[in-house]
Amino acid sequence: MAHSSSCQYIPSDTHVPGLAAVHAEQLSFSFHENNVQFAVENASFDIEGGKITAIIGESGSGKSTLLRLIYGLLEPTSGTVRYKGWQVPTRKDKLIPGHDSMKLVSQGFDDLNTYANVWDNVASQLPNTDIKRKQDKTAEILQRLRIDHLAKKRVADISGGEKQRVAICRALINEPEVLLMDEPFNQVDASFRDTLQQDIKDIVRDTGLTIILVSHDPTEVLALADNLIVMKSGKILDQNNPHVLYSEPSHPYTALLLAKSNILNPEQAQTLGIESEKSIAIHQEWISISTTEESSFFVKDSKFRGFYYEILISNNTVDLHCITTSQLIPKKNQAVDLTISNWIAFD
Ligand code: ADP
Repeated sequence: MAHSSSCQYIPSDTHVPGLAAVHAEQLSFSFHENNVQFAVENASFDIEGGKITAIIGESGSGKSTLLRLIYGLLEPTSGTVRYKGWQVPTRKDKLIPGHDSMKLVSQGFDDLNTYANVWDNVASQLPNTDIKRKQDKTAEILQRLRIDHLAKKRVADISGGEKQRVAICRALINEPEVLLMDEPFNQVDASFRDTLQQDIKDIVRDTGLTIILVSHDPTEVLALADNLIVMKSGKILDQNNPHVLYSEPSHPYTALLLAKSNILNPEQAQTLGIESEKSIAIHQEWISISTTEESSFFVKDSKFRGFYYEILISNNTVDLHCITTSQLIPKKNQAVDLTISNWIAFD
């Protein structure tokens, strides 16, 4: 049904068959008129339909800009985005910005009317032409997101996690094909994140919805996303499923972002007995430590993290972060032996 929606805004566009749901080629965008600095630069990627894709990267890496380019809120400086083979219309093609088949949930709940109740915030997205349908659809989506018991509460009086659920209901009530979310878990308490993520996964499984979300904290989306797009300084560095990117990152940046890995240059690696011509990454969980009488490594710091400790060890040349769940926590300055079970060399 979305096949006709894009082309009607760009008469010169012709459909390109056989592409992924979202397909971008050499996409660039600059906020500056002279195009000296790109917020997104030469980004080419494919996003599969019916899956959850997370765009991750440090703050300022271009994630939100990329999300807005996909939605058609920003006009690319160069390159194209296609949805189902049709070029995504932007402001110049269309009076109301944003692709018809997509909905964007932005950060900060700007779209919510905090003084209206939850029901009205969601129901207001539907026309009054069919009141019965409006009632039924609102009840259904509130139930789906498990906030039906909050229907009569003012948005101002509910938690951040509940507000996020209201924002998602508003976005989904008109049954978009793609849901775009900018930092959706930022204002959701850690203890409520898992249930919200599970509900989102269930919706994707049951409806075939495509989700594209942005996160600066990749650990929160490792379990949620089917695919990750890694951004650094406006460029896409890596794209793959979370398992591959975690265990075989192709860039030190990805290893640091996803695994808080230890990145060592060849000289530093050599002090651990590792010969490599390239920089290497050692994930924290690949290092095991044991106390000893004498060693070049000693404990520099240890942090209690609940069921595990984060230990910083050093030989005065290299600092290494590692974790231990052992009950015997080495004390500061204690000498330690270390065993390294795995490491990755970068090309
Ligand atoms: P992220 O979402 O990864 O934090 P953004 O896409 O928001 O990154 O920003 C990418 C770059 O574009 C940053 O350098 C940011 O400062 C710049 N930028 C973002 N929005 C604007 C704007 N409205 N005007 C000028 N520069 C902007």
